[in-house]
Amino acid sequence: MSAMLLNKEKWPEFVGKLTGKNVWAPQSDGTEMRFAPVGENEKVVLDYNNTRVPPKGALFPQTETMFKFEIGSDKVEEPPLDQEVVVLGLRPCDARAMTIVDKLFKWDIDDPYFVKRQEKTTLVGLACNEPGLNCFCTSVGGGPAATEGLDVIMADLGENYFVEALTDKGKALLDETRDLLEDADDDAQKQKEKLSGEAEDKIKRSVETEGVPEGLPGLWDDPLWPRVSASCLGCGTCTYLCPTCHCFDIQDETEGIDARRCRMWDSCMFSEYTLHTSGHNPRPTRKERTRNRINHKYSYYVDKFDVIACVGCGRCTNLCPVNIDIIEILRQVKEAL
Ligand code: SF4
Ligand code: SF4
Repeated sequence: MSAMLLNKEKWPEFVGKLTGKNVWAPQSDGTEMRFAPVGENEKVVLDYNNTRVPPKGALFPQTETMFKFEIGSDKVEEPPLDQEVVVLGLRPCDARAMTIVDKLFKWDIDDPYFVKRQEKTTLVGLACNEPGLNCFCTSVGGGPAATEGLDVIMADLGENYFVEALTDKGKALLDETRDLLEDADDDAQKQKEKLSGEAEDKIKRSVETEGVPEGLPGLWDDPLWPRVSASCLGCGTCTYLCPTCHCFDIQDETEGIDARRCRMWDSCMFSEYTLHTSGHNPRPTRKERTRNRINHKYSYYVDKFDVIACVGCGRCTNLCPVNIDIIEILRQVKEAL
């Protein structure tokens, strides 16, 4: 399908056409933007920078029931994962993050929860016209109008959204809404490309990654680690809100004989994360945990999956309560190499 235009006045109708699907979109709760299911009284907001919590929960929920069971019986109930989901208006960095997380969840065995959700999910992205202060997606393989991981890309042209299907899933979604769309002419295509170029020019922060994946292991005992982690509170914000972080814990919860096994996001920045039952902890202080976080993203993941596990969304820098800045850490890494 070639590129199309959607007049902004038709946006509510466009969303309304996706009935029968669970539609997630950025919405304001009064103080911040968040992805939430679209309900009758909620207003989708698309002129936003990015959400505090990334939309990774669409494929990897913050807490999910893997199955329910009854203690003392063979009764096991698995939750249905057949609901079709559409995520509207996610940013290109967050869509690209899902392709990075995908490598982990399909590594040695396919994770059935992630894979089934992914099969049923259509991702409709929105290119960034105004990148945030700490965005550095262009340093790590992305860009404000990157399409990796998306089924449909949209761009805000003012009066209209430019809309283009990138996959069969995306094409099917635009087929459903075809009567609201009109063909995009060359001028619209040129305007989209101009806006994308301008957005790239507005990105002010960058990291230099050459030599970092190979060099990081050699910096194991470098004094930079105690220095960059000295003020860390171990709150886990940088990992919880990172679109590529994917660590989880699995726990059983019981109430009488009713029980469920669930998994939930975890964070390698928590001291208990690597605590052994013996009491030994191989990452006993924030120095080791910060070193691990940077090594995992910029060295181990590259070694294993040939991609840096950071999309440069800037959330960890924006939201760290003590202003620890991953770009500054990487600058010090480069300096130490
Ligand atoms: S957000 Fe900041 S303070 Fe919290 S764990 Fe991460 S680096 Fe440490
Ligand atoms: S490490 Fe920080 S900048 Fe990189 S993807 Fe995660 S939250 Fe975004």
